[in-house]
Amino acid sequence: MKALVKSRPAPGAEILTVPDPTPASDEVVLKVRRAAVCGTDLHIYGWDRWSQSRIHPPLIFGHEFVGEVVALGSKAEGVKVGDIVAVETHVACGMCHLCRRGLMHVCERVQIVGVDRSGAYAEYVAVPARNCWPVPPGMSLEVAAALEPLGNAVHTVLAGEIAGCSAAVTGCGPIGLFSIAVARACGAGPIIASDVNEYRLDLARKIGADVVINSAKEDYVARVRDITEGRGVDVVLEMSGNATAIRQALEAMRNAGRISLLGLPSAPFELDVTRLIIFKGATMHGINGRLMFQTWRQMNELLTSGRLDIRPAITHVMPIEDYAGAMDQLKNGSAGKIVLVPWGEKAEAAPAALVAAAHA
Ligand code: NAD
Ligand code: ZN
Repeated sequence: MKALVKSRPAPGAEILTVPDPTPASDEVVLKVRRAAVCGTDLHIYGWDRWSQSRIHPPLIFGHEFVGEVVALGSKAEGVKVGDIVAVETHVACGMCHLCRRGLMHVCERVQIVGVDRSGAYAEYVAVPARNCWPVPPGMSLEVAAALEPLGNAVHTVLAGEIAGCSAAVTGCGPIGLFSIAVARACGAGPIIASDVNEYRLDLARKIGADVVINSAKEDYVARVRDITEGRGVDVVLEMSGNATAIRQALEAMRNAGRISLLGLPSAPFELDVTRLIIFKGATMHGINGRLMFQTWRQMNELLTSGRLDIRPAITHVMPIEDYAGAMDQLKNGSAGKIVLVPWGEKAEAAPAALVAAAHA
């Protein structure tokens, strides 16, 4: 089969012909129908410090995807040939003490598809049957390919009180954009989105933010205080991983507010914990992945009920051969979620049509 492979410990990747995967007894083989691009893929492609410490080339990367079941291992249960499935890409061991306490999302021996094992930038990929999530009928493949990162947003938004709360979303990359839509669907308001990139702030507006703030140009804390009648915001959904954004958001959060952090700072940074966390009585917690499989159930319900529409955040659908262009666009922030169409697949809707339908 063809695959996009991180073949060498250096920047870049290449399309190679590699052996088709064979399923282990508890696995299924999927024909990849769509695969989206994540910031992590960009890190692997660019070969940053994290990748150098974690990735062992050669590796087929890509971990946000939807596929069709084409083969089953002898003990694979719960799916059948022909099913269209999205995939929970954190493969938990099931046996460590955290897994056995029902905390599979923080499994000590987690293996991530496309990071620690072969991924989805390929014609076929093998994954454990229990990681497959059946895609609801009628859902577009482009949306289905984005369920994994959407799950990050759903997990973060629903990690605490949200209905009737004012919410600040800091960082409007694909997951920040999804978080705006999820917070809106769950009854939050006003939703205050911030970024330093005008293209992404425009997408934030389109997907349902009540107010957008360019924190590079405006006084973020003063604006948020103003919008919340001086009280400060109830909930912060941190999606930037930027130290300045985190400090500003905590400044702008009310006492006893909640901040849920998904964005990954690239290095340790200083924070006035006494003033911004302790004396505020704040709740601050980290969000890792998705709850297995509560988050998937919640996401399914939000989407199939029609309350949640993430299409405005999916800005590009392109052939996988254009991977270099896709990586460039994501890197320079001139895209929302990019979905790649693998070999032998045809895009159902031109991206413009997908986006127009969502904005209509
Ligand atoms: P992204 O890099 O596309 O988005 C981050 C956004 O933050 C960008 O639009 C950037 O312009 C913006 N930003 C930068 N500085 C800012 C500032 N000072 N104020 C406001 N915004 C600022 O990333 P993404 O794909 O949307 O993912 C969001 C974050 O979540 C990333 O840090 C990613 O690494 C992380 N992530 C975490 C998990 C997890 O399980 N915890 C999973 C997936 C992704
Ligand atoms: Zn485990």
